[in-house]
Amino acid sequence: MIDTHCHLYFDAYDADRDAMLERARSAGVRGFVCVGIDPRSNGQALTLAQAHPDMIATAGLHPHSAHEATEELVGEVEAQIASGHYRAVGEIGLDYYKSQAGPEAQRPLFERLIAGAAARGLPVIVHSREALEDTRGCLTTAGNGRVRGVMHCYSYDVRAMRAFLDLGMHISFACNTTYPKAVHLSEAVAYVPEDRFVIETDSPYLPPRSLRGQRNEPAHLTELVAFIASRRGQSEQEVAEASERNARRLFAWERSK
Ligand SMILES: [Zn+2]
Ligand SMILES: [Zn+2]
Repeated sequence: MIDTHCHLYFDAYDADRDAMLERARSAGVRGFVCVGIDPRSNGQALTLAQAHPDMIATAGLHPHSAHEATEELVGEVEAQIASGHYRAVGEIGLDYYKSQAGPEAQRPLFERLIAGAAARGLPVIVHSREALEDTRGCLTTAGNGRVRGVMHCYSYDVRAMRAFLDLGMHISFACNTTYPKAVHLSEAVAYVPEDRFVIETDSPYLPPRSLRGQRNEPAHLTELVAFIASRRGQSEQEVAEASERNARRLFAWERSK
């Protein structure tokens, strides 16, 4: 398995980071995508990835930070993207549910970073919450038909999923897919094509059903895989292998970096 979205630099792991990574490896996690959200965490993600052969880093600017995205800050992120050290641009996106910035502030930032990714041939990692139409619009126009990437912590329904698949995006399911109320996600999991889905924990957030209220960590992907397997009528092995294959193709990631 590959955890395609985790924030392992957070201080939630300062006390047991190495043990946490070992638990994940013992559980079958063979790769970690450590996702940055601003210049500082992009740097932290890279430092971690350079210390672990089974980890890659990405550089992004989270829509929650859109209200403080000065030209200088955005320029810093663009320089990180241009450095050649990062394997994707993200997380970036639109969040009309939680962000302090309005749509007018979020959209141009998102489009600019999509264009930067497309120009460098890097995949995007997209955070999208209650912003379905605009997310689709930005990916279509700014990506100019060349964008590829992943809808992280997928939150929409099957119909919207088809539209993102048509745009060339992959769909990433997080552990909230296992929650009893997430009927739309359990449907999406059942219908997603075998070669277009990946999995993530978004650690330390969103633990699976059996661990709600606790800190999440990549080892808990096993509960998500079991759930997806039951919904798709496949074995856990098949789900783990397909999602890993898809993640390695998406991030152009060979077995040993
Ligand atoms: Zn996110
Ligand atoms: Zn995240």
